[in-house]
Amino acid sequence: MPKVNFVDLGRQYEGLKDEILGAFDRISRGGGYVMGPDLETFEAEFAEYCDVGYAIGMGNGSDALHLPLLVMGVGPGDEVITAPNSFVASAWSIARTGAKVVFADVGEDMNLDPAAVEAAITPRTKAIMVVHLTGRVANMEAFAAIGERHGISIVEDAAQAVGATRSGRKAGSFGAFAGFSLHPLKNLHVHGDAGICVTNDAAMAEALQQYRNHGLVNRAECAFWGVNTRMDSIQAAIASIKLKHLESWNSRYRDIASHYAKELGGFVQVPSHGEHESPVYHRFMLRTSQRDALQGHLSEAGVGTAVNYPVPLHLQPAAADLGYEVGSFPVAEKLAGEILSLPLYPELHDDEIEHVVRSVKTFFDKI
Ligand SMILES: *Cc1c(COP(=O)(O)O)cnc(C)c1O
Repeated sequence: MPKVNFVDLGRQYEGLKDEILGAFDRISRGGGYVMGPDLETFEAEFAEYCDVGYAIGMGNGSDALHLPLLVMGVGPGDEVITAPNSFVASAWSIARTGAKVVFADVGEDMNLDPAAVEAAITPRTKAIMVVHLTGRVANMEAFAAIGERHGISIVEDAAQAVGATRSGRKAGSFGAFAGFSLHPLKNLHVHGDAGICVTNDAAMAEALQQYRNHGLVNRAECAFWGVNTRMDSIQAAIASIKLKHLESWNSRYRDIASHYAKELGGFVQVPSHGEHESPVYHRFMLRTSQRDALQGHLSEAGVGTAVNYPVPLHLQPAAADLGYEVGSFPVAEKLAGEILSLPLYPELHDDEIEHVVRSVKTFFDKI
């Protein structure tokens, strides 16, 4: 019986080993370990890939959300609206500016519900941070309209959505800025932590280039107190090597997801999307009221799964001072009890995919 790990990063490395070791060797000999030409090359490639003017590499995806908020002047007294069913970094990036995190409920697409967001707007609302959960671009037409109506910036947490499109437009090209993560669990990942922020705003790009590097304009001049959150040359070189494969990997993500959806749609609720959407399935999240039992059954069958995420952000101890409670966001809370992520990565073998499908089916056959 095949064992299907939830992630298996070594497989991708095996396929690219010679190229990655070559880059490691070249950079190690050259000595330009930080802020070198490899970073500039990857930034240019990534900006082009996302159809945006500028890309600024950082030490992680969280900083790629946090620093641009600071550059926009978000701080104490402001509010930023975001999704309660995201990874903690979405809320963290807001809270750490000193602004208040305001959550709004999500819809059946698992992304922020535009009507709920609009209802949460106050005179203090400075921005709306839309999260493209699981690599599915949220309803950006609706959010653009809300932003215009209220004079509020729309920004994108695109950490899970590299390469996803909506009406032909790439994730990251909709908002005032977008933050991407290159963490090992993301569709485009490096061998450690890294992140990248994209924007069409030249002034914001310049400020971010300085902010991530102590506020330095050059070796001699420090314009303001920034931070140190840079993307290493070796990680940037690995990202460039992998970016060349991203479109074919993403299409494999989509193929496996559509196979899962076709095979399992009669047993569990599976994700669906409109014709104008092309998600990248960072996660394949099914829904079932028997989630915990199904997860236990799959574990016994050797299939690794995960719940992304079991506790909504508004119910985290870190969010206690925001005053939310159980029942504040019924859709997000219901989802947290029903979602289950199946193994999904481009290197999965067909027999492994079949084993996952069969194992889900045998669970429901027994009931
Ligand atoms: C991964 C992730 C982040 C943070 O990225 P890091 O690189 O881990 O800092 C932010 N938001 C979402 C939705 C994520 O999935």
